[in-house]
Amino acid sequence: MYIKVLVELSAFNIDKTFTYHVPEEMVDGIKIGIRVLVPFNNQKLEGFVLDITDNIEEIEVKDIISVVDNEPILTKELLELGKYLSDETLSTLISSYQAMLPKALKAKNGSKVNIKYQRIVEIDNLDGVITPKQQEIIDKINQNGKCSYTELKKINSSVDTLLKKGMLRIKDVETYREVNNSKFNYPRHELNNEQKEVYNEIVNNLNSEQSYLLYGVTGSGKTEVYMDIMEKVISLGKTCLLLVPEITLTNQILKRMEARFDKIAVLHSGLSDGERYDEYRRIKRGEANIVVGARSSVFAPLENIGVIIIDECHTESFKQDVMPKYDAIEVAKWRSKYYSCPLILGTATPTLDMYARASKGLYKLLRLPTRAGKAQVPRITICDMTKEEHIKNSMISKTLFDAINHKLSLHEQIILLQNRRGYSSILMCPDCGYTMKCPNCDISLTYHKTKELMRCHYCGYATKKINVCPDCKNDQLKELGTGTEKIEEEIKSLFPSARVIRMDLDTTTKKGTHDKIITSFAKGEYDILLGTQMISKGLDFPNVTLVGILNADTSLFIPSYKSNENTYDLISQVAGRSGRSEKIGDVVIQTYNPDHFAITLASKNDYEGFYKEEMHNRLVGKYPPYFYLTLVTVKSSDYELVSKEINKIKSILESKLVDKEVIGPSLGVPFKVNNYYRFNILIKYKKELDLKIVLKDLIDHYKSNYKIKIEITFNPNNI
Ligand code: ADP
Ligand code: ZN
Repeated sequence: MYIKVLVELSAFNIDKTFTYHVPEEMVDGIKIGIRVLVPFNNQKLEGFVLDITDNIEEIEVKDIISVVDNEPILTKELLELGKYLSDETLSTLISSYQAMLPKALKAKNGSKVNIKYQRIVEIDNLDGVITPKQQEIIDKINQNGKCSYTELKKINSSVDTLLKKGMLRIKDVETYREVNNSKFNYPRHELNNEQKEVYNEIVNNLNSEQSYLLYGVTGSGKTEVYMDIMEKVISLGKTCLLLVPEITLTNQILKRMEARFDKIAVLHSGLSDGERYDEYRRIKRGEANIVVGARSSVFAPLENIGVIIIDECHTESFKQDVMPKYDAIEVAKWRSKYYSCPLILGTATPTLDMYARASKGLYKLLRLPTRAGKAQVPRITICDMTKEEHIKNSMISKTLFDAINHKLSLHEQIILLQNRRGYSSILMCPDCGYTMKCPNCDISLTYHKTKELMRCHYCGYATKKINVCPDCKNDQLKELGTGTEKIEEEIKSLFPSARVIRMDLDTTTKKGTHDKIITSFAKGEYDILLGTQMISKGLDFPNVTLVGILNADTSLFIPSYKSNENTYDLISQVAGRSGRSEKIGDVVIQTYNPDHFAITLASKNDYEGFYKEEMHNRLVGKYPPYFYLTLVTVKSSDYELVSKEINKIKSILESKLVDKEVIGPSLGVPFKVNNYYRFNILIKYKKELDLKIVLKDLIDHYKSNYKIKIEITFNPNNI
């Protein structure tokens, strides 16, 4: 027997199968999708068996060393999916398979995650005199027919005597690490008429591969609808896949699911490798019929999937930003076709791209326009910071200050958002709101402190830093970029009696801290929750009646063609945290651009209006969804080399691509990462045509050049 093996090394020049011979004694263990250990050059590598054959062309064929698994790791479906993924993202096939698997099951020599075993004691042969102490042990075992050794040992030590006499026997059985143990009571709601309509539409089409865009305002009861649909799917003996953004996973949605379903597996990055491995095995063995997880769980080895749901589907984190750069929504579509089951994309703020697809009929649009239960839409106040008084030089306006004090006196809770951390600051005129824009692109320039330059991250344009506002001649330009930590100080001094908790990347790095902050805030142990956009999604706190957005402009002037959309999205999402129960909620938006359409329309909840206006901008600027974007990133640790090659690559692309704009090269942001210098070339086009072939040729051309790395990103998030 001969097999074709895809080895664990991810490089384009070895991304093909190699043929090996299987010695007679190992033949029985070989199946397609199983891992084997093989000699490769002078190493021992693991790889996946992709094909079994009797005839070979090669002259010199080596024997495999061993078979790694008892059962195939990759199912027929996942093998096919991996091929699709590597074609679609122009990544190596091996990187696609590896991306689908938990660490314990990747083909990777020497990284073993252990299976946990438990020592179980059973009755063997009760023959002879039994003391009362021994009887206690036997009674305990008889309760369930078996019992763990540790538990018996706690009762008394005669278990050892019984074992020695052969009256009991011991064996090691595989167990799972406990992931969830918190049971939580969450009332079930009878669906209202709007919800029922959505439910009926989907439940009547459970055998079709229809993609739905469920556009439901925050608090409209989408989650409630998901759960009813899932219940139906499970009653039909099928399984459900629910994807949520990483950050919302540790909170309530999971607890709500657990209150209603008992065979849930959870997959997210907060689990240890061992826990992930266990959850994965439970899924593979059919012991879980619901998988709730973040992006990569779109590859969960469920079989017989009956519905796939992607909640908060507008979230950028559903796209992976390292190779293979896949979009979980596209993978979900592939699987929904494979299983002929519906795909539900749920959101309160569809991306323009999704809404455009729905208008074209590619997605079926379903709406939940009102809040469920008794909750009302919050009152939104736009606070014009060019006119408003700041309290004691802080970021807090008089309006917000008064609103916070009022809510504190009512013992209601407050969420404050200081959005987006980690971006280099921009310069803005505090009097008139001016920010400098690129002459070639409709985006703000970023202030680069080291070189005192204003740079366009899109086309590479650069100019000297300005010190005076060209509109109103103010020479006190402001660097935007106050972080959450500074705000925390300000708030504590402005509201000395308030209990304040901060949630951002810095306060949530440790496992479980995110959950802890949410839980203690939900219990009312704090009055004010301050955080980054981490707090904007999915949370449901009934006692929160005020949300303050400290600076809506930060996201507005992030240099990206999506900045208007992101701002609209952020305001609606965070506003959706206010007044989710009986008490009416308030929202205060602080901005230097009170007339900006993204802000005014978000404050009126006018998505249609926003969509119309922003689609016009996209058309004029030749941006998605009218045009597609593909980013070619070229990187190397050799600066001279990459600066030279990037221009060659640009001319190759320009000469070979038909009907496409080739823009750049521009510097990667940041330019140097891990000692790699990065350049970007952006391709804009209406029709894909020859694109993949040309890019594949380019990759092929450079595949044996170890000094140059090429990465392709289709529909990049950050441009
Ligand atoms: P979404 O997922 O759209 O944000 P949720 O499902 O979280 O909405 O529902 C928002 C709130 O309304 C929750 O507190 C939920 O328990 C409640 N709710 C949902 N559906 C109903 C209903 N039909 N009747 C009463 N309350 C409901
Ligand atoms: Zn530009």
